[in-house]
Amino acid sequence: MNSYKHVVYWHDTESVTLGAPLREDIECDVCIVGGGFTGLWTAYFLKEAEPALDIRVVEAHHSGYGASGRADGFVTPTIGKDIQALVREFGYARALHASQAVGRSILEIGRFARKNRVDAEYEATDYLMVATDAAQLKRLREDRALAQRMGAAPAPVLPADESRAVIGSPAVLGSMRTGGALVNPYKLARGIARVVREKGVTLYDTSPCLRVEPGARPTVVTTGGRIKADKVVLATNVHMDAFPPFRRKVVPIWTYAMVSEPLTDAQLSRVAWPGREGLVEAKSLLTCARFTHDNRIMFAGGPAPYYFGRDKRQRNMNRPEVYRAIHREFLRFFPQWADLRFTYAYGGTADVVRDYAPHFGRLDGGNILYGYGYCGNGIAATHTGGKVLRDLALGKDTDYSRLLFVDDGRRGQPADFPPEPALFLGARAVTRLMNWKESRA
Ligand SMILES: Cc1cc2nc3c(=O)[nH]c(=O)nc-3n(C[C@H](O)[C@H](O)[C@H](O)COP(=O)(O)OP(=O)(O)OC[C@H]3O[C@@H](n4cnc5c(N)ncnc54)[C@H](O)[C@@H]3O)c2cc1C
Repeated sequence: MNSYKHVVYWHDTESVTLGAPLREDIECDVCIVGGGFTGLWTAYFLKEAEPALDIRVVEAHHSGYGASGRADGFVTPTIGKDIQALVREFGYARALHASQAVGRSILEIGRFARKNRVDAEYEATDYLMVATDAAQLKRLREDRALAQRMGAAPAPVLPADESRAVIGSPAVLGSMRTGGALVNPYKLARGIARVVREKGVTLYDTSPCLRVEPGARPTVVTTGGRIKADKVVLATNVHMDAFPPFRRKVVPIWTYAMVSEPLTDAQLSRVAWPGREGLVEAKSLLTCARFTHDNRIMFAGGPAPYYFGRDKRQRNMNRPEVYRAIHREFLRFFPQWADLRFTYAYGGTADVVRDYAPHFGRLDGGNILYGYGYCGNGIAATHTGGKVLRDLALGKDTDYSRLLFVDDGRRGQPADFPPEPALFLGARAVTRLMNWKESRA
C-alpha cells in the first residue's frame, strides 16, 4: 500500500531561504505583483531592455511557490488549451505567428539556463503526442493536417509498432513528435529569481498585495508597506480574481501529479523509452508522463476538478480518489511497472479563462498591466509573455505587443464566468461532456 507525501516533488529538490518582506513605503519605476514565471520573466526582460529601471517584485509566498514551481515541466509551444481552438478564434496566420514566438521561447529558456548557470535540469527531448484509441488517432492526424495548413512541417504520425520503439507502452496506438523540452520548473523559477536579483531587481517575499489603488502613479498596498510606481504589472495567475476587474475572469482548475521513487536499472530496462521524451495523450483532459532528472516517473492528469467557491486551498492535495484514478491510468500505460512505488502525490491550480487563451493588456490609462489565462500551458508562453509585458510597459509597438494574446482594439478581456452555484454546476457539466466525447471512439 502506498503512503504519499502531499508535497510538491520539485519543492524537495531545492531548499529555500525566505527573502525579506516589504516593511516600508517606497516608490519605484515598475512594481510587479507575483513572483512566478510571468512576473520574473517580465522583470528580466525589462531589466535587459532598460538596466536603469528600478523594479520591485512583491510575492505572497516566495518566487516559484505558485503554478510555476509545481508545473509538470513540459516546455511546449502550446498556447492556451490547444492549437485548434486558437486557429478557430484567430485564423491561421496569427496563430502561426504566436506559435512561432512561443516555440522560440522553448529554445531561449534553455539558452538562458546555460548562460546564467541555472541548473534547471533542462533536457531538449521534444515531446510525444500519443494516441491510445481511434478518436485520439484521428485527433493526431487532424492536428498534423492543421499544422501543415499553417505552413509548418510537422513530424509524421507513427503507427503502433514504430511508436512502441520510441515509447514501450502497450497502450500506445500511434504517436507524433513535437518540438519541446523538459525542465525542473521550480529550479527554473528560483534561478530566474536569482538572476534578476543579481541584475538589481528587489524581490520581497511573504508580501501579499492587498489591493492596487489606481492613479497617475498606481499604488500597490501590501501587508507591510506601499509601493507607488509608474507601472504596476499584475502577474498573479489563478489569483487574479482578488482584483476587482478580474473577479470573474478566471477559474482555478486543479491538476494533479504523482512521482515515483527513482527507478532501478532493472526497472528502467523493462520499458523502451530511449529519447526520454515527455509523453502527452492526445485528449482534452490530459494524461502525461515523463522522467525526472534522477529517473523517477512523473505521471499526471486524471480528473481535472473544480471545487466549489474557487477553492484553491492546499488541503485539496489530499484527494485519494484522484490518485487512485491517476494510478489506474499509469497501469494502463505501463503495466510493466506495476511494482513501482509512488511517493509524491500533489496538485496545483491552472488559470482557465472562457476563451482558453492567455490575455495580456493594460488598464487604467495604461499604468496597470496584466498577464494571465495560460490554461495549464504556461512554461514557454510565460517567457513570451514577459516580452509582451516588457513592450506594453515601455509603450513600444513591436511584434510582441501585437501578438494575438494582447487585449487591443481587436480583442478584449475574456467573458465573465457566472457566479456560484452556476459556476460549479457548469464546470461539472463541462468535465462530464469532455469525458463523454472522449469515450466515443
Ligand atoms: C499542476 C500544474 C501543472 C502544470 N504543468 C505544466 C506543464 O507541464 N507545462 C506548461 O507549459 N505549463 C504547465 N502548467 C501551467 C504553468 O505552470 C503556468 O501557466 C505558469 O507557471 C504561470 O505562471 P505565472 O507566473 O503566471 O503564475 P504563478 O506561477 O502561479 O505565479 C503567480 C504568483 O503570484 C503570487 N501571488 C498570488 N496572489 C498574490 C498577491 N495578492 N500578492 C502577491 N503575490 C501573489 C503567487 O504566490 C504566485 O507565486 C501547470 C500548472 C499546474 C498548476
